[in-house]
Amino acid sequence: LTTGALLAQMMVDPVNLILRWYDELQVAQVSIARLVGVRDIEPDAGDAQVRPDGRDVRADEVHFGYREGVDVLHEVSLSVAPGTRLALVGPSGAGKSTLGRLLAGIYAPRAGRVSLGDAELSRMPAERIREHVALVNQEHHVFVGSLRDNLLLARTGAADAELWAALGAVDADGWAQALDEGLDTEVGSGGLALTPAQAQQIALARLVLADPHTLVLDEATSLLDPRAARHLERSLARVLDGRTVVAIAHRLHTAHDADVIAVVEDGRITELGSHDELVSADGAYAALWRSWHG
Ligand code: ATP
Repeated sequence: LTTGALLAQMMVDPVNLILRWYDELQVAQVSIARLVGVRDIEPDAGDAQVRPDGRDVRADEVHFGYREGVDVLHEVSLSVAPGTRLALVGPSGAGKSTLGRLLAGIYAPRAGRVSLGDAELSRMPAERIREHVALVNQEHHVFVGSLRDNLLLARTGAADAELWAALGAVDADGWAQALDEGLDTEVGSGGLALTPAQAQQIALARLVLADPHTLVLDEATSLLDPRAARHLERSLARVLDGRTVVAIAHRLHTAHDADVIAVVEDGRITELGSHDELVSADGAYAALWRSWHG
């Protein structure tokens, strides 16, 4: 590639370009982490002997900052019981997404601990964490290759029947079956151009295949049209069912039916409880709720 063509391609499709480099270097080791929307902090760090000894996600007196001397989270403690849903609410910039990334093991705390059961995430290899916890956001990547390749990256060696089941679980089997080449259809740059909703379905199908018990869901404002968004929400609800969910709620209405709501203000958890408990406590959440209800 010429420098100009390289730059042009980097702007259009940086992920595929990087993957092509990887491919040329014969190190096409794409981790589950990347596929389910999670970045590794230190992929080689961690002790392979350390395994989660429980499914409850816990933060104990966590401090974290992106820059030396500037903490974004201060002494945050909470615990999410297996199978329950925790919603993080609070003003913009309060630290909700940051806390979500720590609970997903993407960043390690500066002080304090984040653990699955009693096992600290920061002591585990990244790949181990990803088997248990995934971050779900709107960064969905479709890689150059067939539809099958794109799905197999989440679970190597899965049979076609499992791939179809995963596509079915996220309502993507209809359009996928209509493809002339089925799972062999080439997607990504140069292949079939998927709609944003289809690309998100592929990301969700990968989650179904990777099957982590805990999901950290960053509910970014949807770029999809309302009909596609509703359709995808139904598929997402099915993927979340039965898993532990930490939902970063940028909108209040998605928080109120969570089992536990944590109000994050200025990097601290200031209120913790169910919707009814927090409304009766008449604090910041109650005020937010009243103003939202007009
Ligand atoms: P929002 O609802 O607007 O997404 P939030 O509550 O999720 O906000 P965070 O995104 O966690 O808040 O941000 C908390 C603080 O950390 C903010 O001051 C933000 O500017 C800063 N911050 C967030 N991400 C980074 C980053 N990658 N590098 C440096 N600073 C960051």
